[in-house]
Amino acid sequence: MTQGVAALDIERPRPRPGDALVDPFGRGITYLRVSVTDRCDFRCVYCMAEDMAFLPKADLLSLEELDRLCSVFIDKGVRKLRLTGGEPLVRRGIMTLVTSLSRHLAAGALDELTVTTNGSQLTKYAAELAGHGVQRINVSLDTLDADKFRTITRWGELDKVLAGIKAALAAGLRVKINAVALKGVNEDELGDLVAWAHGRGMDLTIIEVMPLGDIGAGRLEQYLPLSLVRARLSERYTLDEIDYRTGGPARYVKVKETGGRLGFITPLTHNFCESCNRVRVTCTGTLYMCLGQEDAADLRGPLRLSPDNAPLEAAIEEAISRKPKGHDFIIDRRHQRPALARHMNVTGG
Ligand code: SAM
Repeated sequence: MTQGVAALDIERPRPRPGDALVDPFGRGITYLRVSVTDRCDFRCVYCMAEDMAFLPKADLLSLEELDRLCSVFIDKGVRKLRLTGGEPLVRRGIMTLVTSLSRHLAAGALDELTVTTNGSQLTKYAAELAGHGVQRINVSLDTLDADKFRTITRWGELDKVLAGIKAALAAGLRVKINAVALKGVNEDELGDLVAWAHGRGMDLTIIEVMPLGDIGAGRLEQYLPLSLVRARLSERYTLDEIDYRTGGPARYVKVKETGGRLGFITPLTHNFCESCNRVRVTCTGTLYMCLGQEDAADLRGPLRLSPDNAPLEAAIEEAISRKPKGHDFIIDRRHQRPALARHMNVTGG
């Protein structure tokens, strides 16, 4: 059964006066995405090259440091925290971090603690996540065809992910499926994915492939504009515009025939930088103020400089004062190289 739209509507979080992080364009920063590892048990063709070199483990922030970093952001007005990666659930000891961060939910300092995962570890962790106050998770799934799934993820097993999703739903987690639209790969399946997800009470968001990192293939071969996807889906479904927002970049419609919600994330055909409330931290403590720009700030140095949080707070404030207005991804025949050298698993999707 699909949940009622009104019941799930979430107020756009507002920073608290006095401690708010506000960028030069007046946007309050209330949403932090943290990549807890750059490692992953999949090698999705649009995300990574097959022979990726990962960071030495010694470069990573410890779980205690990640907790301290997140807690400072929460003190400064962040209300929504997403753990991502790489695959966040393959980081050793990840549930220790979830457990400790959940104190901010209990204290009312954080509205939402959530995870983006490929689902491979959910049979193991779903109940524990729910037990620590996680209410919603995003699971990435681009196809329901086992062979295609293996081709896209290179290393993944569809059955394991489907079992993970089942475990998450059984644990009472609300699940949103994220699917990247890939030309010639899953484009003919997206309508069925809508029916499948909505039939199980899950929202679905379709994402445009972004030119991040060298993946050893041209992006034009993968790129499918969502304007086209949406036009095709409208031949099968009635898509009604709705105001639903989760504090993220997706814009939603309600699918009349299924009663479920369908989101579109369109960084290329239409970016929504004007309402961006997000920043991202990598597992080595680098803060990226925009997914689509190179500018960054080192937070690991100030974090390790002193047990006092003052240097870290100053570094965060200085970085937010440099948050750019937006990004400008382009994929066409002249722009097939990555717009940015870093892969999505580094910045965290
Ligand atoms: N491992 C987790 C997962 O699979 O959800 C979290 C990290 S993954 C990098 C987060 C999301 O980014 C996934 O939904 C993935 O499909 C998406 N993604 C990765 N590379 C992308 C790209 N170049 N363009 C668009 N989405 C991408």
